[in-house]
Amino acid sequence: MNKYVKELVELSSIDKSLNSFNPRIEAINKKIEKEQKKSQDLSNSIAKLQQHIAENKDKIATYEEQITSLNEKLNEIKKKSNEVTNEKEINALTVEENITKEKIAFANEEIERLNKVIEAKESEIAKLQEELDAQNSILEQVQKSSEDEITDIEKQKQELFKLREKIVHEIDQKVLAFYEKIRKWARDTAVVPIKKHACYGCFLKVSDKTYSDVLKGEEIVTCPHCDRILYIELEDIKEEEA
Ligand SMILES: [Zn+2]
Repeated sequence: MNKYVKELVELSSIDKSLNSFNPRIEAINKKIEKEQKKSQDLSNSIAKLQQHIAENKDKIATYEEQITSLNEKLNEIKKKSNEVTNEKEINALTVEENITKEKIAFANEEIERLNKVIEAKESEIAKLQEELDAQNSILEQVQKSSEDEITDIEKQKQELFKLREKIVHEIDQKVLAFYEKIRKWARDTAVVPIKKHACYGCFLKVSDKTYSDVLKGEEIVTCPHCDRILYIELEDIKEEEA
């Protein structure tokens, strides 16, 4: 293989690996985000239930205040009924007393009902809290293993960067510029093999002349259809000859 092409094949393979790291990191981050969202959703549900409980407790407090003032009213009615003698007035006080007692009964019923609602919501919270605890430990595990994975990827990245620097330093600068120009549009497929007499970049057949030019390796040969740099893998040469 042409010396320059050999270097470009290596460079292209490094660039391809380097480009593959970011999607891998993104995938890891997405995995963490997914678990974080599950934890967050559970926390939100618990917070909502706690909010409902607080609202119901406020309502209960209001009913309790009502009951206190209604009891004061009952005492006043009793005092008054000891003082009045007139039948009409007695009847009026009796009606007022009954209404007040009904109001107290209603307030007590509401307090009882609200307490039941609070109890149900509290047991719902306990269940969700258990789920949240389990979810948080999953999240912790995912974060921990992701950290290790990312550290590993960063290490590989650093090593490849170093290797790339070395090649870029040693390679003919005109050849490098030529490669970078093609890479701008071809990205990971700037340098492609010929397989079964076809360019592996555009998948069109190449002529026998192009094939033998690549095989000779006297110069860098590009695909006549797509302009990518071509090479032939050793194992493919053997296959052709067999
Ligand atoms: Zn091509």
